[in-house]
Amino acid sequence: MSEQIQLLIKSGTVCNLACVYCGDEVSGPINRMQLSTLIELAGQLASLSKSSIVVAWHGGEPLTAGQSFFIRATEILQSHLKPNQKVLTCVHTNGLLLNESWMALFESIQAAVSISLDGPGEFNDRYRRSKDGNGSFKKTMAALHIAAESDIGVSVSATVHDDSWRIASDLLDICRSQKVNQLHFEPRLHRGSLRMVRSVSVEAFYQFVRALDVTRSGVKNNTDIELPTLGDWSSPGEGQPASCMFCRELCFSNLAIDWLGDVYPCDLFHGNASMCIGNIHTKSLSKILTGDMYRLYKLSASVIPSICRSCPWAEICCGGCPYHRYMAFGTFERPSLYCSRAL
Ligand code: SF4
Ligand code: SF4
Ligand code: SF4
Repeated sequence: MSEQIQLLIKSGTVCNLACVYCGDEVSGPINRMQLSTLIELAGQLASLSKSSIVVAWHGGEPLTAGQSFFIRATEILQSHLKPNQKVLTCVHTNGLLLNESWMALFESIQAAVSISLDGPGEFNDRYRRSKDGNGSFKKTMAALHIAAESDIGVSVSATVHDDSWRIASDLLDICRSQKVNQLHFEPRLHRGSLRMVRSVSVEAFYQFVRALDVTRSGVKNNTDIELPTLGDWSSPGEGQPASCMFCRELCFSNLAIDWLGDVYPCDLFHGNASMCIGNIHTKSLSKILTGDMYRLYKLSASVIPSICRSCPWAEICCGGCPYHRYMAFGTFERPSLYCSRAL
């Protein structure tokens, strides 16, 4: 693992939306991370030899925990970490509860804020809506506006669906009009099942990426918004990199921990018991990271599938995201299901 660790905290299963593709068990029992688990985690993070610790708060909807939880959580992390350890906070939210007061809190801790939005009005609301069927677009836009006015700015995360290519340029226009810093995107996935199936075709994903690229190239001053994922996904298909929303090289710097203290190599594996590499209440993080389960995972996930060895992109792509390989095919020996060699 590098000097940096990126830890995604799955803070619970409580959410004020019920998106049709949600993989975060928001309709099941209510779970929240307890402060005792966070205190245990903070102490264990302090004992790792990491100078930079990125803590990303994630779903259900982290803001449902309330501001007092975030204030306490920040105090706990800061008070446990060593002076030479820097903590960077990211909050991934659907934006429904976000207001000036939340943004003031995030500004005070210099947190990065990312808001989910899949596209314009009706398109977004087809997927991202409440239990009662009410769309989230209007409230999300209000949140984007508030966040964009702050000193820390805001990024957008979009889930790509089979028909997202139709609205790619509208999505980019919305982000630009709201002064969004970055647009991230990832294909819609079926998560939590034994096998992952592709819910957006390679072709449809390619069309989305192309549409974004073309729109962006046609705009003057097109550097006002970054598209970090674009470089990774710009040409999916045989002989092209198949990456993920994270930088592929940083894959083994990522970990996810849920409200129970269960640790996974990546958030995407959450819910698959066989991919749980330990629990911080029974084993310390440093032991989990040097333990057999994680070593075996890294060894297996580092193997470049034999079919990829003749690919000119193998060195940077390495067969693609381990999740897109293992959860689709039950083996790391196949290339990403977002590469045409996997078809
Ligand atoms: S906002 Fe996120 S956690 Fe909530 S229902 Fe939608 S996808 Fe799930
Ligand atoms: S998954 Fe394999 S074949 Fe496909 S682009 Fe990556 S290295 Fe090449
Ligand atoms: S498993 Fe995939 S999504 Fe997760 S960190 Fe690794 S490359 Fe990224």
